[in-house]
This record gives sequence, structure tokens and C-alpha cells, in this order.
Amino acid sequence: MNILSQDIKYLQGVGPNRALLLANELGIKTVGDLLAYYPYKYVDRSRIYQIREIDGTMPYVQLCGQIFSFDTIGEGRNKRLIAHFTDGTGSIDLVWFQGIKYAAKNYDCRKDYIVFGKPTVFNGKIQIAHPEIETQAPLLSPQGGMNHPDGTPPPWGRLGGGSSFRPSYNTSEKMKRSGLNSGAIAKLTANMFKLLKEPLPETLPPYIVQQHHLMAYDDAVRNIHYPTSPDALRHAQLRLKFEELFYVQLNILRYVKDRQLRYKGIVFNTIGEYFNGFFYHHLPFQLTEAQKRVIREIRADMKSGKQMNRLLQGDVGSGKTLVALMVALIAIDNGCQACIMAPTEILAEQHLATLRDLLGDLPVRVELLTGTIKGKKRTAIFEGLVTGDIHILVGTHAVIEDNVLFDKLGLVIIDEQHRFGVAQRAKLWMKNAVPPHVLVMTATPIPRTLAMTLYGDLDVSIIDELPPGRKPIRTVHMFDAHRQRIYQLMNRELDLGRQIYIVYPLIKETEKLDLKDLEAGFEEIQRAFPNHKVGKVHGKMKPADKDAEMQRFANHETHILVSTTVIEVGVNVPNASVMIIENAERFGLSQLHQLRGRVGRGADQSYCVLVTKFEIGETTRKRIQVMVDTTDGFEIAEQDLKLRGPGDLEGTQQSGMAFDLKIANLARDGQILNIAREAAQDVITSDPEERNPQNDILWRRLRELRKSNINWGAIS
Ligand code: ADP
Ligand code: MG
Repeated sequence: MNILSQDIKYLQGVGPNRALLLANELGIKTVGDLLAYYPYKYVDRSRIYQIREIDGTMPYVQLCGQIFSFDTIGEGRNKRLIAHFTDGTGSIDLVWFQGIKYAAKNYDCRKDYIVFGKPTVFNGKIQIAHPEIETQAPLLSPQGGMNHPDGTPPPWGRLGGGSSFRPSYNTSEKMKRSGLNSGAIAKLTANMFKLLKEPLPETLPPYIVQQHHLMAYDDAVRNIHYPTSPDALRHAQLRLKFEELFYVQLNILRYVKDRQLRYKGIVFNTIGEYFNGFFYHHLPFQLTEAQKRVIREIRADMKSGKQMNRLLQGDVGSGKTLVALMVALIAIDNGCQACIMAPTEILAEQHLATLRDLLGDLPVRVELLTGTIKGKKRTAIFEGLVTGDIHILVGTHAVIEDNVLFDKLGLVIIDEQHRFGVAQRAKLWMKNAVPPHVLVMTATPIPRTLAMTLYGDLDVSIIDELPPGRKPIRTVHMFDAHRQRIYQLMNRELDLGRQIYIVYPLIKETEKLDLKDLEAGFEEIQRAFPNHKVGKVHGKMKPADKDAEMQRFANHETHILVSTTVIEVGVNVPNASVMIIENAERFGLSQLHQLRGRVGRGADQSYCVLVTKFEIGETTRKRIQVMVDTTDGFEIAEQDLKLRGPGDLEGTQQSGMAFDLKIANLARDGQILNIAREAAQDVITSDPEERNPQNDILWRRLRELRKSNINWGAIS
């Protein structure tokens, strides 16, 4: 049996209890899983510091000495264990807030320890909280010589041929409490490499390894855990990142190829009376050049005989709805139905209203289907769909339910689809004998690297132009204390007849508390603006009440709308010119951008005020500054990716193709990603039938990866 598929519990140092922890906390079930559990950083352990050199500004340090006494202070949650530690040049405190029992039991006075951690200053005294402690002597003694008191070299010495880099592994609090900390994992990986005497087989074909000058797989995994030198570490990282991204791309591109082979597309070759009737008689304004271009791109797809799978990116307010309608009309001209999906009921209803408004007296039947439409109404819609009387169905996720059947569904448009992945899209295809064309629209610009992975199966069209006459929104950052200035701005705009949004954050866990903020804000605003009507919407309201309130604002019956993020996407009230975002620090960048996009939709100068408390952290300050500096959604998306990392970006978790990258980082590894995608495309193009024996290893590996990663498997 392959060592890598061996159960982790049989690895020296694991056993049943730890095996359970490793599986539950880190998903490590086999030796191979442990091999692929890479360190998140490396620490140069070649240097032992003396305590008298230490101050609170240093990064991680390594000390060598003894504990001379223990103290426990505080009670209950404030209980702490303190070990007073000395090396003869001075003393510091080692502190535990958690795992106190374990520490008290496992460490003794007057024993030689290597202590490792980050010194901080607390009450004027230097301390290290939750240090890593080892009985083993250090690689290098303070005198600089090798020092192996028990006769066996430490694992990082054995493998690294004298390397002083120690791996640090992430572990959970729960694991740490049971002593399964980074050091303990390092012992396990060291034990693992004792087992892996034979070189591990290559996981990429030799020709790809050579072409891209990659380190051999065996070298790479050994060096990623126990680097022999900084240079070797870099090569190991490069190799493993390339490989990871390569297989992700190979998976996507192979899926695209299969999809193209398997499914034909409905051919839309007619531009008929629906499209022309609208274009010549109902189009309320000239299309922007960008709108024209993307309509051409979409049209070319739809008459190609292949199924369209296209992503339409266009910043907020760039006019995607109009594009959606016009391509839907092409579908109708070709005897097909179209379906437009929105993420929320409010948006779906708004789309319905917008479309009906734009269509005027054209004989196009547009209907709405959401979860709240029930009974007779629902049955009537089902009927209209099956008979083909309904041309365009607008709705929420309700439209993809299995019992929603169409006469001939030719086009599906998915608007603001962060929550809609590959697997869900694929579900739509069953709705017609030949799968409908699919257009995915988003105003949340996605950084290119992310788009290539999350939506790597889609062709991309971009609306990079706003309708004429729009003035860029002016964004300012103000503190709570600036209330009067904010009111001044509000009064000025209200006097000009404009309307204002005020948005409060709403986080699920504390929904009550936040609603209190919103209620308080609502009352304060009513008091401060007695001559104006103030409306209020939040997610806890009944949909009908919410809609009525939104409608009042849209009709200009209310002047100020106090709300939670329910207005985040898509809501369109062109007369609104001020967006005030309270506790702006609590929002992500893409969310702020979306919210800001609710204003600036008319020809007037619009404003966005980001309100925060005075004390905010560095990252928050940067985030707010990005918003103040630019209104370019793509720029904001890139900055967001940099500041937060891809894991937190909206859409990554929910998307069907979301996966954890183990080593590559989409914020930093764009170049590697490009090369990896090209390499994967080369394989697909040069060996479409998968007959080249050189590539056998690739398909085998891809099958393994798809088996072990649920999300990969979900895409086809
Ligand atoms: P989004 O791309 O954010 O979905 P919308 O489709 O809601 O944007 O359009 C924003 C606003 O711009 C709407 O009021 C719409 O009527 C208007 N609009 C769209 N296209 C044009 C155009 N070519 N010229 C002028 N206004 C336009
Ligand atoms: Mg929209």
C-alpha cells in the first residue's frame, strides 16, 4: 500500500486521540494529508538570544534557559499561569492564558528549555505569551557549535543538512490545549519524512517540469517543510504553487472543453421585431459604446452554435440591465424564453418594474417568480411558462427549482450572482433539451486572478464606460464627531430636492443590537430633520412592508431613507445624491463600493460619506482611504484582495468552484497563475483526446484531486 494513503493514526507520535483531532481540526486523515499540510512560516532558529538583549519591539526570538518558579494569578476567565524564566543574563515571564493545566503539568523548574516566541512588554516587564517550549537542545548553542545532547540530531538538521529553518504550522486553539501545537506538528512531519525514504514520485509530467524549470516534487515537499536554504525554499514554493494552480486550471479548462463537446448551443440567428421594435421605438437613450460592444459579443456567442457561458462585468450604474433586456429580446426573436435571476426579492421586483417600464407597449410578457408568490398566482405563472405565453421570467432562486418548467428556455441571465457557482449554473441546463445560453452579470468587479479561478470557465465581457453625464461621486471620510458637518451637507442637498440614504451595518449574530443602532439613528434623524420625511427599511420587515417603504422613497414621498444593507445591490433611485454609511469600518470594500453605487445614478453631483469612530485600525484606515481615492471598481477589488486575502472575498466561499488553495495566493501569485493557465491550456489543446502517454500522470493526478476535493468534483 502506498505510504501516503496510510491512516495518520499509525504515524509515530499520533495515536487515536490525536488522529481524531487532526482529522476534525485540520482535515488531516492520511500521511499524504500531513505531507500537504504546509507550514505557514519559517523561523530562523540559528540564533539564540540573551535575555538582556531583548526588548518589546523584536520579532520572534529563541531563548535558552530554565524556569525558576511558577505563579498562578487571577480567577476564572482571567486566570493566568506565569513561569519566571532566566538564562543568567536576565529574566522574563512566560505567560499562559489557555492550556494552563497542560503547561503546569509539562514544564518543570530547573530543566533546560529552548523557549521560542514573540516578546511583548506588559506592565513594564517583558513577557512571552504562549511560548513554544522544547526540551531539545538548540541546533546551535549560544557558542555557535552544534549541540545535540541526546545524541540524535533534531529533525530539521537531519533533513536540511544543517538548515536552521524551523517550520511553523497553524493549529487550532483546541489542538494547542491538548499540546498539539506547531512544535508537535513539526515532530510529526519529521517522523513522516523518516518513513518516506524513497523519493516521492513526480506529480507532473517531466516535460512540464523541464519546460518551466521546476524543482522535482520530492525535493519540493521536503524543502517546503524543512528548507535547506532560503533559495531552496523559494524554488519549492514556486514548484508547489505552480502545480496547485496548474491543476485548478486544468480542471476548469478540461471542463470547458467537455462542455463544448457535449452541448451544442441554440442558434439565434434572427434579429427580429422584438429587438428592432425596442431598439427603434423604445430605447430611452443612446447606448454607450461599451454597451454596444458587449451586446455584439453576446450576439456572436448566441449564433455560434455553441452554448454561451459569459461573464458580463460592469461597474455599478454602467447599464447592465438594459443589456440584459436587449439580449433577452434576441432570444424572444428566435422563439425562445428568457429568464433573469436576481439575488433578492427586492431586486427581482425592481427588475420586473424596470423591464416593464422599458418595454412599454411592446407585446412582451414579463412575469415575476419568487418564493413568496404562492397559490393561484404561482400556478398561473407555471402555466404561462409551459405554454410559452411568458416571454421573460424574472425571479430569485425560486426559478431554478425543479418544478419550474419552460416551453423553450433559451437564455438565462444571472444578475449579481456572487452566490451562484458552477454547479448551480449547470442545474439550469436541464431546463431545456439544448442547454440555454448563460450570461452572468456582476457589478462587483473581480480581480483578474480570482475571476480566472472562480469563473475560469466563462468568457468575459466588460462594460468599462458609464453612461454620459455622470459625475464621479465625491467620497469623504468623517468621524462621529463631525455630525454637524454631515447634517449641513444633508440639508444643502435636501434643499436642492435630492434624497439621501443612511446605511447601518447589520451583522447576523448581533442583529438586535444593530437594529437598535438603526432605530436610534432613525429617531435622531427625524428630530434633526423635522421638515423632511424619513423612511426606514431593514431585513426583519415583512417583504411587503419593505417594498412599500422602498417604493415611497423611489416616489420621492420620503426624503431620507434609513436602512440596513438591504439596499446594497441594484436599487435604483436616480434622484438620491447622498449615501451616508455609518460604522463604515464594519463593511468590506466591495460592499462599500456597492452601497456607494446607489448614488451617482443621475446627472447631479453625488456624495458618499463614510462615518467611523475616531480610533480605527491601520487596515481600516487604508480601506477607507481606498474608497476616498478611487471610484474604479476594479481598482477597489484589487486592493480588497490585497488587504483581505482571497479567502474572505465575497463569492469565494459560496462559489461552487471555491476551494482552498494550500499554498498559492491569488493576491500575490498572479504571474504564476498566468503561466499555469497557459500550460494547462497547452495540454488541453495539444492532447484533446487525452491519448498522449506523457500526460497519463496528469489525468491520474487530476482524478485524485477531484476525489479529495468536493468542490472540484462538483463542477461537472
Ligand atoms: P447596473 O449596471 O448597475 O445594473 P443599471 O442597469 O441599473 O446599472 O443602470 C443604471 C442607470 O443608468 C439606470 O438608471 C439606467 O436607466 C441608466 N442607463 C443605462 N444605460 C444608459 C445609457 N446608455 N445612457 C444613459 N443612461 C443609461
Ligand atoms: Mg444592476
